[in-house]
Amino acid sequence: MQQVVIIGAGLIGAGLAYRLTQAGARVTVVEAQGAPATQASGHSFGWINASYYLTPAHHHLRVAGMAAHHRLSRDLDADLWDWQGCLWVEDGPTLDQTATDLSAFGYAFEDLSQAQIATMVPALAHPPPRALNFRQEGAVDPAALTRALLAKAQAAGATVMLNTPVLGLVQRGDAVCGLRLTTGEIAADQVIVAAGTEAAPLLAGLGFALPMLQRPGVILATQAVPPRLAPILALHGQELRQDSLGRLWLPVAAHHQADRAETLPANPQASVNAALQSLNALFQGPPILRADHWAAAFRPVPGDGLPALGPVTRGLWLAVLHSGVTLGPLVAETLAAEVLGARASPLLSPFRPARFWP
Ligand SMILES: Cc1cc2nc3c(=O)[nH]c(=O)nc-3n(C[C@H](O)[C@H](O)[C@H](O)COP(=O)(O)OP(=O)(O)OC[C@H]3O[C@@H](n4cnc5c(N)ncnc54)[C@H](O)[C@@H]3O)c2cc1C
Repeated sequence: MQQVVIIGAGLIGAGLAYRLTQAGARVTVVEAQGAPATQASGHSFGWINASYYLTPAHHHLRVAGMAAHHRLSRDLDADLWDWQGCLWVEDGPTLDQTATDLSAFGYAFEDLSQAQIATMVPALAHPPPRALNFRQEGAVDPAALTRALLAKAQAAGATVMLNTPVLGLVQRGDAVCGLRLTTGEIAADQVIVAAGTEAAPLLAGLGFALPMLQRPGVILATQAVPPRLAPILALHGQELRQDSLGRLWLPVAAHHQADRAETLPANPQASVNAALQSLNALFQGPPILRADHWAAAFRPVPGDGLPALGPVTRGLWLAVLHSGVTLGPLVAETLAAEVLGARASPLLSPFRPARFWP
């Protein structure tokens, strides 16, 4: 039985732990913080989609990612997902281009008129003239999903070590064979780095330079209010959704999926206030929406914006990506199989980390 050690108890590490224990591996998850999902996975918007993408292969990966969510929800039999669809709003010519590009991929959508949008979201103060409706998209609470996956992995025998920062990787010859902790070393047949924004320093210790982008975000949740938004709304410059408890969630920085900001706003509270003001203006009625809580976090984004998934050297694997909510269950399925000796998945071939050190 292989001993696999995973660094990081975010959604990616938890998903891998779940699939690896299911496949019979002995799994240990090592997490620096005192709880799972305290970093990106605990501060995510949670949108599962393939309407946003960077390359055709990235779109296809995201479509496969959405299918993997359905498989996972059947396996877990948990009520964590909401497949509420997404209304995508852009200016006319840009919307036409998006529609043409997605049609070419065979990605289903309806082109809705203003009247149809008003019927679908009657609370909107000024329904846009047009929107694309992606019925197949949805959302999940990534922190809840992380906890559910880790609990299943633990029930199947995985060990989870919290408050345990990994200081470095142990290498013998050309193979990685363990981790260095403050308390000593632990041995592993395979190590998976699922450490999000902190992956690069771990690899640097072995001479692998993983470029990472700086992509901070601020996520805001309002108080719970009666239902006013069934689908996710992806407006130019703002995305939002309402969860099953009635809270509205929105990334505060403009257009979070393609956000290029490298630093957090100098005054995050002022940005939160501005976001609340435009949020209130979106809806009819008095401006009652206020912040229940907000938090800043960094998205783990490899240097070219695309996922970095696969082998680094003998005994060492990497799983670092943005859109880890959309892609997490697929990454868990495919990478867990590869770690245990399955043939390399063609889906992952454009996203191998080796592209950074050819
Ligand atoms: C504001 C925001 C909005 C987002 N919106 C979306 C969205 O709508 N849809 C989508 O698909 N994706 C979205 N994302 C991205 C998605 O949340 C991330 O891609 C995903 O959560 C990454 O999961 P992860 O497990 O790789 O990283 P993380 O959740 O950051 O987990 C990494 C873990 O590794 C641990 N760790 C790091 N270094 C060490 C070490 N040396 N030793 C031990 N442990 C270590 C950390 O403590 C952490 O717990 C968003 C992200 C943000 C921040």
